[in-house]
Amino acid sequence: VPTIGVLALQGDVREHSRALEGAGARTVPVRRAEELESVDALVVPGGESTTMWRLARTFELLEPLRKRIEAGMPAYGSCAGMIMLADRIRDGADGQETIGGIDMTVRRNAFGRQVDSFEAEVPLTGVDGAPFHAVFIRAPWVESVGAGVEILGRAESGPNIGRIVAVRQGRLMATAFHPELTGDHRVHHYFADLVRRAMEEE
Ligand code: GLN
Repeated sequence: VPTIGVLALQGDVREHSRALEGAGARTVPVRRAEELESVDALVVPGGESTTMWRLARTFELLEPLRKRIEAGMPAYGSCAGMIMLADRIRDGADGQETIGGIDMTVRRNAFGRQVDSFEAEVPLTGVDGAPFHAVFIRAPWVESVGAGVEILGRAESGPNIGRIVAVRQGRLMATAFHPELTGDHRVHHYFADLVRRAMEEE
């Protein structure tokens, strides 16, 4: 059983932990570099990326996080977590840094210009069954991706049709929406499977 850390500086940590346990993983909150060392993978929750960034800097977690991701630790970020895993961001706060890892440019609060939050059905590559019922809350979208990034899902309707909202690059994945807020654990299952396969490869 993989042990998946949930970055617990800020955001909806409990919801992700529950969804991961529903997907058969063990979870542990990660607030310090020592705690990061003991996990097989990491989830970066939804919340507020500017706050997460400031706290990660204060707790001296940014470099340890970057190092583990560079060394191949699987990671999944939802919403603010997607921002944290992006190599480049637009509309960040002054000086806002990310952990990075995914070769993409993410625009913060992108949908929020039209509407703060909304729900939509998003078909996801690699996730069987009905389209995923996706909850977006002041969500980012992905403006562009590098060649190594697989697009898993796009907005299918409304004024933002075609916008990229789910991606994967090797062992890293991110969604602009919050699968932890619905009872549907298919995205967490997808990530837990990715983590199991990564552990077999080591
Ligand atoms: N707007 C938030 C940010 O910039 C993300 C919102 C969310 O995670 N629901 O971090």
